Amino acid sequence: MSQALQAVRGMNDILPSEAAFWELFEDTIRSWLKSYGYQPIRMPIVEPTPLFKRAIGEVTDIVEKEMYSFIDGLNGEALTLRPEGTAGCVRAVIEHNLAARQTQRLYYIGQMFRHERPQKGRYRQFHQVGVESFGIAGPDIDAEMILMGARLWNDLGLDGIELQINSLGQPDERAQHRAALISYLEEHAEILDEEAKRRLYTNPLRILDTKNPALQEMCAAAPKLIDYLGEASMAHFAGVQRVLRDAGVPFTINPRLVRGLDYYNLTVFEWVTDKLGAQGTVCAGGRYDGLVEQLGGKPTPACGFAMGVERLIALIKDSGGEPAAPVPDVYVVHQGDAAARMAFRVAEGLRDQGIDTLLHCGGGSFKSQMKKADGSGASFAVIIGDDEASTGEVQLKALREAGVEQRKLKVDELAEAIIDHMIDSDEEE
Ligand code: ATP
Ligand code: MG
Repeated sequence: MSQALQAVRGMNDILPSEAAFWELFEDTIRSWLKSYGYQPIRMPIVEPTPLFKRAIGEVTDIVEKEMYSFIDGLNGEALTLRPEGTAGCVRAVIEHNLAARQTQRLYYIGQMFRHERPQKGRYRQFHQVGVESFGIAGPDIDAEMILMGARLWNDLGLDGIELQINSLGQPDERAQHRAALISYLEEHAEILDEEAKRRLYTNPLRILDTKNPALQEMCAAAPKLIDYLGEASMAHFAGVQRVLRDAGVPFTINPRLVRGLDYYNLTVFEWVTDKLGAQGTVCAGGRYDGLVEQLGGKPTPACGFAMGVERLIALIKDSGGEPAAPVPDVYVVHQGDAAARMAFRVAEGLRDQGIDTLLHCGGGSFKSQMKKADGSGASFAVIIGDDEASTGEVQLKALREAGVEQRKLKVDELAEAIIDHMIDSDEEE
């Protein structure tokens, strides 16, 4: 016997019952983004490997151990399945000169790939909604992006998602803090774990983000980046906070929030829930003013965030949100060759009039077809036998109302009769 075929570990099928949540979620997302003036962009899922190494940074979890990288056997190119969307989006903005004349507000929704240990809320293929802005330097856009989150949780009916913010300052401020941090960590070298030792001179800031309980106390007392920020950086941070206070959006300043990617500066933020266990961050982002230039574009201030779709959908489900299963208006049953041909015409004609129509396929007796019509939840069955086909007529039967007679109608009267009936029953409700 051949071995059963299975999906790749950590990569999920999204079955129809689940996918209904996704569609509802995406509808909400698109209208929310439109209301803030964001435009869609769609980038490839595969990009050249050097893009991610340069953008995300060599000494990060993603580049060190999570990327699906491979050599294209057909031409020897080094390629990677995208682990996040910002790098590819910046590449596209540079390549097509999008930010040259005007500011850009862009979004994308799609698959990302990271080779992680699969667990609840952490998968090897997952989805993000990514939101990016190019060409705006002030704290206003950072703050607006954070307000967007607050509005979305409300639109999705989610509560208990808390906001943490921090400022990472500018590269020169980071360099001073880094030097102080390294000497502090050197003083505690004996308790550092393997990962911390490895990062001591390459990415010491990330050590503060460790989940190792043994290091928490030491990290809490480490030199804080915020104490090294100059006036301009502090003013930017204050500007963000002012908008949040004016809008009544509560936040916590978390000095240990450093984000796992190298490209951030100034504002960083995360939205966190305690309802998803250890995988509690549902949305994260910040400013990345240096990245466009670093990847070969003209200096362009930029800011963005990404949301984990799987985690948000899990929250929506936990909060009892329930998308309605799609129910057709009409189910068309038919028997005989002439009736079958007419059934196609009738069904297409109904759809032309905006009536959702399920055409019975697969044959069977009238009785078994009527059972399916009933089970579909449709409001009406349209019944076509060879008798009807020969006279160009159909039977219309209301399935959800007792005591309504089945009616014989001309095909061209059918759509109107159904629409009239639907309006009447709407008014009765
Ligand atoms: P974490 O600390 O959970 O690993 P991260 O810092 O690696 O998160 P980002 O790169 O900031 O995550 O991605 C933004 C969001 O995408 C996360 O907040 C999370 O909601 C989601 N996300 C990241 N990795 C995964 C994954 N492997 N599976 C599902 N969702 C993910
Ligand atoms: Mg991660």
